[in-house]
Amino acid sequence: MPISEFEVITNYFQQDFPQRAEINLGIGDDAALCTIPTGMQLAVAIDTLVEGVHFPIKTSSQDIGYKSLAVNLSDLAAMGATPAWMTLALTCPQPDETWLRGFRQGLFELAKTAEISLIGGDTTCGPLTVTIQVAGFVPQHCALQRRGAQPGDGIYVTGTLGDAGLGLATIQNQITLPLPIQKFVKLRLNRPSPRWHEGQALRGIASSAIDISDGLQADLGHILIASGVGASIQLASLPLSEALGYIPLNYAWNLALSAGDDYELCFTVPPQQEIALQKVLAPDSYTRIGTIESTAGLRCLTADGQLFVAKQLGYQHFC
Ligand code: ADP
Ligand code: MG
Repeated sequence: MPISEFEVITNYFQQDFPQRAEINLGIGDDAALCTIPTGMQLAVAIDTLVEGVHFPIKTSSQDIGYKSLAVNLSDLAAMGATPAWMTLALTCPQPDETWLRGFRQGLFELAKTAEISLIGGDTTCGPLTVTIQVAGFVPQHCALQRRGAQPGDGIYVTGTLGDAGLGLATIQNQITLPLPIQKFVKLRLNRPSPRWHEGQALRGIASSAIDISDGLQADLGHILIASGVGASIQLASLPLSEALGYIPLNYAWNLALSAGDDYELCFTVPPQQEIALQKVLAPDSYTRIGTIESTAGLRCLTADGQLFVAKQLGYQHFC
């Protein structure tokens, strides 16, 4: 007999997830009840992953579980918020227990690391779609936002860029890489590392922030528009992993600028906060890539000052 909706909830989602003190009533009633700690604002974000659109059809359920939370934690990171709780709306074609076990395992693994509680959700039948809504705490008026960048501010990114895009190209058989490199880039695609620790550390230091989900060019573009400024970035400064050394430099720049799915942070820091920045982030965890300017638009410059225009490689959701 196929497993019922209620068995899915009790067997896979009701137990073992972190239980935070602010949760007064979790899974099992018509709604959860939570208390926001005094002095905190609630940052709320939601992201949906649709099979074949946001992840390739053969992606393992472990990776789907992990990534559907990771992309949401990345949004909290961009706001400087501390992960607190989440709800999960899971739509899947058939209640397949092997699939569910894997999904739960991937979700659970990251939930435990991020100390985020699963407080409710909805379970339905249909084409595979995972929606997670997250909520996090940020001290009143301390949230990072897209607006706030000023001319003269340095532009920074965490981690390395373009790995996930190379992972997708590998899965789509557009490129063949040595096995260990393939493994690394696929991991970067399927298991991004949301930077919530860095996001929290940047409160009061960064003048603006965003997470890179659609590619640096598009996402930094959102900061520029929200802040009413422009920017120049130096391509030679883009942090590229060893994996991108296996492909031509122009291709690597295109991936780093426009492939998306990196889930690193892009943020700006005023000159007077640079010392504070050096104190809160490990030196090898972030890179300065350019400067905010008053002239609108984004200029990507080669070492000899030529303008480089990236091809759009990222998946254009919507459809
Ligand atoms: P209702 O019919 O009142 O909407 P449900 O029967 O859908 O309630 O869900 C019962 C309980 O299980 C609720 O507390 C709900 O939040 C929780 N729940 C349902 N699906 C999930 C899920 N996929 N993950 C976590 N909690 C879930
Ligand atoms: Mg319901």
